[in-house]
This record gives sequence, structure tokens and C-alpha cells, in this order.
Amino acid sequence: MIAVIGGAGYIGSHAVKRLLEKGESVAVFDNLSTGHRWAVPDAASLYVGDLRISEEVDDFFKRYKPEAVLHFGGKSLVGESVEKPMDYFETNVTGTVHLLKSMAKFGTKKIIFSSSASVYAGNDGSLLTETDAVGPKNPYGASKYMIEQMLDWASKAGDLKYVALRYFNVAGADPSGEIGEAHAIETHLVPNVLKAALGETAHISIFGTDYPTPDGTCIRDYVHVGDLIEAHLLALEYLGRGEDSAVFNLGSGTGFSVREIVDIACEVTGRDIPVELGPRRAGDPAKLVASSEKARRILGWQPQRTEIKTIVEDAWRWHNKK
Ligand code: UDP
Repeated sequence: MIAVIGGAGYIGSHAVKRLLEKGESVAVFDNLSTGHRWAVPDAASLYVGDLRISEEVDDFFKRYKPEAVLHFGGKSLVGESVEKPMDYFETNVTGTVHLLKSMAKFGTKKIIFSSSASVYAGNDGSLLTETDAVGPKNPYGASKYMIEQMLDWASKAGDLKYVALRYFNVAGADPSGEIGEAHAIETHLVPNVLKAALGETAHISIFGTDYPTPDGTCIRDYVHVGDLIEAHLLALEYLGRGEDSAVFNLGSGTGFSVREIVDIACEVTGRDIPVELGPRRAGDPAKLVASSEKARRILGWQPQRTEIKTIVEDAWRWHNKK
């Protein structure tokens, strides 16, 4: 039995689908605050519970006694985290304290944790590696780094083994078109561009055109949600072989600017997407691109849907069908 914390959300639900396809039994723990009941297939058990309530987390572990945990649970909006930092530390950090205590109590020793590129301080714009300086710029990134540290101390004190995966910009959707990104408040670039293409919003706002990049807009590293999930399965196998706890970046190694993403979305959708040029969004670094050499070398990760056009096409199939 694999426990998927936050398994009703965008990334978690893709993990559940893939684990079921592989023949695993899956128990999802989710409070459905941003996730969706419809995103959890009937073949998985769904426990509606809240990480902030330790009794509920204990009850979940008592019931399912999972052998490993994929931990996608938590709040994930950078802007909101700046306005309500304590909500982020309560759900993400305190919630993970509860999770780790329940794991220890019920004998679950392996965890794969969804960390983030936002733990990095940022560098001169070259490819970020796992040894680059950490220095989160917002409470969301801080909460992710605090959890990484908790995992590390817990692993030193007991028999917990962990893999922390630092995601860059996750996008795309399952090629089946059955599940995809569906946030009530959407802040991410790819879904926002596609909503503008559909006419659900009047235009896409480009946040800042005066960055020190070739076209003045921010550059990011987009990784397909399906490839991201494969890395989680490889991380489970890695811990299953008795390897040491570790941290890995997950990105593509190629950066695209905001303008380039808008152009690609116009091409994929065949529509004119109205653009509004706006000011910078607070806290956005000019460029974030990962080196994922470590994940490729140690986990054997071989992302397949790396073409940016494929990522946008898969996202479009989902948005267009909703
Ligand atoms: N962005 C934008 N308009 C939007 C959403 C995002 O111009 O409606 C920009 C944002 O400023 C950043 C990039 O697109 O430079 C990626 O932002 P996103 O929120 O998707 O991911 P982040 O890099 O913040 O994790």
C-alpha cells in the first residue's frame, strides 16, 4: 500500500493514476480544500482528512499501514504565502510534523517529498544544481526548505529514508485528457495562457518585460507532470534498494521565456491570444533553470515529454475539454 498525501490535487492525482496502472494499492489522504474528489479514481481509497489534525493523520496510518508515502500535501501559492505566512507554516510544516510522527508510530519508513525550486537563493542565471546555495525568498519556499531539514534530522535520528524532489515549473496533463490542472484560483502561466485562448479570461498578463533576458520576460524550466511522476516512481525504487536519502532537482534543463510560452500556446491552440503587458510580480527571479543531471545519473530518470510544444498540447487537450 502506497499513501499519497494530497492525492486529489493536480500533481498528486497524476501520481495516483500512474501507481494504479502499475498495479499498486493506493490510499489517498486529502482535505479536498484545493483537490477534487473526481480526480481520485474509485480504485484508490480516499480518506478525507486534514494534515493539521494529528488524530486524523494517525487514524489514516492506523487504517492503511502504508509501506511508503508520496507527500504532495500542502499549500502552494507563492503570493498567498507572502500574505498569510502562518497558514503556510501551519499546513506545510506542522502538517508534515504530524505526518512524520504518524509514520514513525505505524512503522512507515520511506517518504518521497515534493520540494521546490523556490528553496534556492538564485544564482547568476546558470543551471541550478543541488549544491547551489539555498535561500528561499517567500514563506512557501521557506516551508519547503524547513520540511527538507526536518526530513534530514528525522532520518539521522531514526530509520526514516527520504527523497526530496525539487520541482521546477510543472505543467501539462495526462495525455488521456482525464485529469489535469484545475485550481480554483489559477496563478500559473501555462493554464492562464490557455484560459485566455479559450476566452475564459480577457487576456494573459505578462508580468514584467524589463528583465535582463533576451526578450525582457522571465525564463523558466517547464517539466511535464507525467515525467515528474516517473521520477517519483524511480525514487521509490531507489529507496527500496536501500540507498541513502537524497535531494534531486526535476526540470528539463531548457528555459523558455514568458513570451515564448505565449507564442507556443498561439501555435498549439491556433488562436490569437490577447496579451497585456504589466509590471513585474513581486518575488519573481529573472531565470530559473535546473540541471537535472543528478536525477538522470542516480535515479536513471529519462523524461520523455520534454518538447515544450508537447507539454502545452497536453495541457490544451485538458483545458479544452473541461
Ligand atoms: N506569469 C505571467 N503571467 C501569468 C502567470 C505567470 O507573466 O498570468 C509569469 C511569472 O511572472 C513567471 C512565469 O510566468 O515569470 C512563471 O510563473 P508561474 O506562476 O507559472 O510559476 P513560478 O515560476 O512562479 O513557479
